[in-house]
Amino acid sequence: MTQERNNNRGRNGDKECCSFCGAHRNDVEILFSGAYGGGAANICNKCIENGYEMLLESEAAVPADRRRAAAPATPALKMEELHKPAQIKAFLDQYVIGQDAAKRYLSVAVYNHYKRLLHAAAGDEVEIDKSNIVLVGPTGTGKTLMARTIARLLKVPFTIVDATVLTEAGYVGEDVESILSRLLQAADYDVAQAERGIVFIDEIDKIARKGDNPSITRDVSGEGVQQALLKILEGTTVNVPPQGGRKHPDQKFIQVDTRNILFICGGAFDGIEKKIAQRLNTRAMGYGRVAADPIDRSNLMQYVSPQDIKSYGLIPELVGRLPVLTYMQPLGRDALRRILTDPKNSIVRQYERLFAMDGVELVFEPEALEAIVDRAVACKLGARGLRSICEAVMIDTMFDLPSSGENRFVVTGDAVREKTEGTPASELKKVG
Ligand code: ADP
Repeated sequence: MTQERNNNRGRNGDKECCSFCGAHRNDVEILFSGAYGGGAANICNKCIENGYEMLLESEAAVPADRRRAAAPATPALKMEELHKPAQIKAFLDQYVIGQDAAKRYLSVAVYNHYKRLLHAAAGDEVEIDKSNIVLVGPTGTGKTLMARTIARLLKVPFTIVDATVLTEAGYVGEDVESILSRLLQAADYDVAQAERGIVFIDEIDKIARKGDNPSITRDVSGEGVQQALLKILEGTTVNVPPQGGRKHPDQKFIQVDTRNILFICGGAFDGIEKKIAQRLNTRAMGYGRVAADPIDRSNLMQYVSPQDIKSYGLIPELVGRLPVLTYMQPLGRDALRRILTDPKNSIVRQYERLFAMDGVELVFEPEALEAIVDRAVACKLGARGLRSICEAVMIDTMFDLPSSGENRFVVTGDAVREKTEGTPASELKKVG
């Protein structure tokens, strides 16, 4: 029987065999026969499945190629059209409260980055290095917000990746190239756009080498990932699997040149103050700091230097490729209070709009705002806490009001205290 089938295999025009792989009808689950033209053209379920997989893999690549051919080329940059650092900062000011030092650093780095692109296009011999950035600062202080806002201003593709999901090739987790898959997706597979996009790598501190000495055992999610990031950060051509995930041999790739992609890395670097203090103390002993320049010990983060992130566990090569280093201030009471109302899309404005859609005027009494800030300070959740506290305060109202027929609602200080004082901080953390 098997012999007979094998003899049938591949015989062109055989009504009993798949015209693609030659498998006999009895060896497959279904054999579809083509009716057109009266000839015997068949396809088995396995060939359909294989074809489908190939389609899925190339799906993203095909429209990209077609789009590239059809769409006008990404417009060339012009010096006079670049946003000047002061303009970038003014834009950031509309969305991000405080963080002046970081805003200035970031504005200059982004401006230089785009000048660098212009410079390279002009073919000058002097190559300007990339200005990849590290933002060091506690969680919820606006690192992601800052990167996102810059991308919005520049109208370039932007993606956020979490460094903790990345692992060295061959291990469970995501390859470092998946960062670029996401950027491609954000660029709607327009490779030229993606190649001048911005990538925000969050939690870069979590891939720090464990311990100061290079480890003997393999450090799958730490040093290996840092090594893999090096090339991408510096600038190279990478074969990117369009759908992300792991690379495999039959996959189609899209080539992405990372030379002009700006990388912004963020991390809380918990405990880095200790390293900073150690360094400052040594220096104080070694060279002697002048008395007129005392160290502000309440905010050591402002003195962070590349040396500190290196002693924290980032490998020197990676630190070298992240030349712009700046810090985010912890948010005090005043900043938190302003975050509630001042940014263009502040939390309070967002609730006002939501209620307005039901025809309801929403009013937060000043005392209510103070009470929300009090709670956020008590919970030590930074600005993230504000959102979750507001959710806890507003949830019942948001449930009842749309069907109540009322057209005005006032949030009072008492209401905030009543709704949040019984709520444990762990509950608040779940939201936002
Ligand atoms: P990080 O990346 O530092 O952990 P995020 O940027 O994700 O923090 O901040 C979380 C949320 O808190 C933001 O979406 C924003 O609503 C708010 N937020 C944090 N910092 C600021 C700030 N400096 N100004 C305005 N809003 C802020």
